[in-house]
Amino acid sequence: MVVQKFGGTSVADPDAIHRLMNIVRTARARDGRGPAVVVSAMSGVTDALLGVAAAAGGGRVDDALSRIEQLRERHHATASALAPAEANGALGAQISAQFDELAALARALGVLREVSPRTLDVVAAVGELLSSRIVAAALAEVGTASEWVDARRAIVTNDDHTRAVPLVEETNAALKSSVLAAIDAGRVPVVGGFVGATIAGHTTTLGRGGSDYSGALVGAGIGADEIQIWTDVDGMLTADPRVIQTPRLVPRLSFSEAAELAYFGAKVLHPSTILPAVERNIPVRILNSRKPDGDGTTITAEPAAGATPLTALACKRDLTVVDITSSRMLMAYGFLRRVFEVFERYRTAVDVVTTSEVTVSVTVDDRRHLEAIVDALSEFSQVTVEPEMALLCAVGDRLRNEPAIAARAVGVLEEVPLRMISQAASRRNITVILRQNDLQHAMNRLHEEFFG
Ligand code: ASP
Ligand code: MG
Repeated sequence: MVVQKFGGTSVADPDAIHRLMNIVRTARARDGRGPAVVVSAMSGVTDALLGVAAAAGGGRVDDALSRIEQLRERHHATASALAPAEANGALGAQISAQFDELAALARALGVLREVSPRTLDVVAAVGELLSSRIVAAALAEVGTASEWVDARRAIVTNDDHTRAVPLVEETNAALKSSVLAAIDAGRVPVVGGFVGATIAGHTTTLGRGGSDYSGALVGAGIGADEIQIWTDVDGMLTADPRVIQTPRLVPRLSFSEAAELAYFGAKVLHPSTILPAVERNIPVRILNSRKPDGDGTTITAEPAAGATPLTALACKRDLTVVDITSSRMLMAYGFLRRVFEVFERYRTAVDVVTTSEVTVSVTVDDRRHLEAIVDALSEFSQVTVEPEMALLCAVGDRLRNEPAIAARAVGVLEEVPLRMISQAASRRNITVILRQNDLQHAMNRLHEEFFG
């Protein structure tokens, strides 16, 4: 039994939904049951809905209403192309009712001139509620028994609106009586991602990008064998394709590796969203819905045995290095605390830290408060600031037990001046800070050495 989650580009228009249906039908033919399908809103729809709320709350009701009519058109057109009879019948009526309600809400918001998080969730949820209805109807149209599952009856959350936290036990129970029941009855359940509801029945959302999280929750709740995240890229790559021309696909990586790569800028998927799956040892596969025969990237709880020495590279530009040297003599305890208090006061995160006896070097990404930070630090230390720096990070579980790999990575970069080198406590990555101008060359060298 698999869960197939489709992102916004994989339900963007009738062609994309045709591809989705082939993927679903292939899985169904192979497994003999299921799959459970989780869908995002059609691409761009969530942003558009938030635009509606902002316009209405700002008193621009006409603007909000015209945005709503555009969305109505797009959903009706998609439904008509995929399931014409339903589009003239029940499905069309549901789409109309949904947008009529939204228009009434927009008028009310225009009067109130205020959008509460709870109302925002009602508006934002429309995208997934409708995309899931359309996909369910489209599957039925081609003869695949399907069932629309109302996400508000399947994912139970707390009332922290716009970033609600699922209640695990309640959600699992709800998933069994909705999603699993549909599968057991021989149908393909189709549920909108991103959306849930409180125990009291108020609509909630899980935060932007939350459909992946829904996919993982559904997979964990029904005890799936695999969760597939269908998107518009082949999977995780060994390097950012904007930096390395021909990166390779990473066939397998561990959850910890994925987490470190995401932290350092790899975009495909936010690992915390798949935690429910990883905790239950359910593999998560990233696949390209335009190339359904690809192998994709599989993320598992444990590292993949015998994989390449490094798993992937990541990089981040536009960093600033701040060197802070204690103006007192050696061993002034409390120095580190004072340094980091300054960053805390200005709510500025530091990415990489290296220390020697008297100097602490940190990198910061967010320069908004840099001047104030430097002033505050200068009260008790000498400070130098170096802009236009970059971070290059090599990730791989094997770094933990094979010190030669880190040595080899640094060795490859011998002619590149490295400003800082850090191997984090997890020892799953080795990170170097270098001049931005040297980044391309350094990435090429490392990629050639380990993946070339
Ligand atoms: N549609 C939602 C968003 O755009 C959730 C998702 O697609 O993951 O954030
Ligand atoms: Mg997404």
